Amino acid sequence: MNDTVKEEHHVTSISEDHETTCWGCGLRLLLPSYTPIFKCGWCGAITNQNPLKHNNKYLRWRHIRDRCFIAILLIFMLFVICGGVWAVYPVIFSESYFRGILHCTITMLLSISTISSFSLAASRPPGPPPSIPWGSYPVVEKGGLENYSFCSYCSKPKSPRTHHCRSCGTCVLDMDHHCPFIGNCVGAANHQPFICFLFAAVLSTMYISIMSISVGCQLWPPLDHETIRHITTGSSHSPFIIMREIMFAFLSSAVLLSARGLVLAYLLVASISVGIGLTILLWQQLSYIYQGKTYLSHLSSRADEPVGERGCQNIFRFFGYQYSFSRYLPRFSRTKKIHKK
Ligand SMILES: [Zn+2]
Ligand SMILES: [Zn+2]
Ligand SMILES: [Zn+2]
Repeated sequence: MNDTVKEEHHVTSISEDHETTCWGCGLRLLLPSYTPIFKCGWCGAITNQNPLKHNNKYLRWRHIRDRCFIAILLIFMLFVICGGVWAVYPVIFSESYFRGILHCTITMLLSISTISSFSLAASRPPGPPPSIPWGSYPVVEKGGLENYSFCSYCSKPKSPRTHHCRSCGTCVLDMDHHCPFIGNCVGAANHQPFICFLFAAVLSTMYISIMSISVGCQLWPPLDHETIRHITTGSSHSPFIIMREIMFAFLSSAVLLSARGLVLAYLLVASISVGIGLTILLWQQLSYIYQGKTYLSHLSSRADEPVGERGCQNIFRFFGYQYSFSRYLPRFSRTKKIHKK
C-alpha cells in the first residue's frame, strides 16, 4: 500500500512542469516539479521561494532603545573615569608629582582609546553588502550571481557572506553578531574598531582594578585594635575561623570608609566583573579570527566542511598588516580575503 502511494506521488510530481523566473537574471526556467529552492544554471543565483517579508514594525523603537543603551554606557564610562580620577589622584599626587603625571597620561590614553573605539563601533554602518547588477539577462553575466540569494526583507541580492540582521533591519557583509552593547551589528566595516574597543576596555578594567586596590588599601580605615589582638592571640583557632575574623574586621571597618573609599570599592567590584566578561568575549572573538571565521560562520559551519587555514596570519590580516608581517611568518598564504561573487 505504502509503495503504491509513493509511486503515485512520484509520477504526479514528474508530470507537473513548473515554470518560474530566476530573480537574478530574469530568465524563465522550467523545473520538473515545484522546487522551493533551486539554482539558476546561467547566473548561479539561488532562488528560495520565500514570500516577501517586512522588517519588524518595532524597528524604530529598537533603534531608539539601542541609542539609549549606548548613552547609558557612555555615561557609565564617564562616571568610572571621573570617579576614578576624583578618588585616586589626590592620593597619588600627594605621594609623588611625577607618579601623578604618569597616571594622568595612562588614564588619558586608555579613556580616549576606549571611548573613541566604542563610538566608532557603535556609529559606523556595520558593512553594506556590495552592490551588483541584477534582474535582467543581458546585464547579468554567466555566473555573475554565483551562490547569491535574495533577501526577502531588503528585496536585494545577498552574497554568500552576507546575513540579514532583523534587529538592524539591514543586510550586513561578514556579519559576526548583533551586539546590544554597541547597539549595532558587528560586520566587515566595524569589526576592527569593535576588537580595539574590547582590547582597550579589558586594559582599562585591569588598570582600574590595580589602582583601586593600591589606593584603596591606603584609604581603608585601620582595623580595630581589639580585633587584631583577638586574632593574633587566638593562635589555637583553625585557619577558617581566623580568616572569618579578618573578613569580619575588614567589613566592620568599612563603615568608617570615606566617600572616596566607597567609590574605589565600587570601581573595584565593577571593573573585575566587567573585565572578566569582556576578556571572555575578546578571547572568543580572537579565536574565531585566528580560525578565519566569524561567529555566525562558525555557527553555520558543518562538521564535515573542510577546515580553513588557521593561524596568526589571520589575526595580522584582520588588522591590515598582511604585507609588513608576511615576511616574518614561516607559512603565510597570500590569499587575501576576497569577497566571492
Ligand atoms: Zn539566473
Ligand atoms: Zn536584508
Ligand atoms: Zn544588527
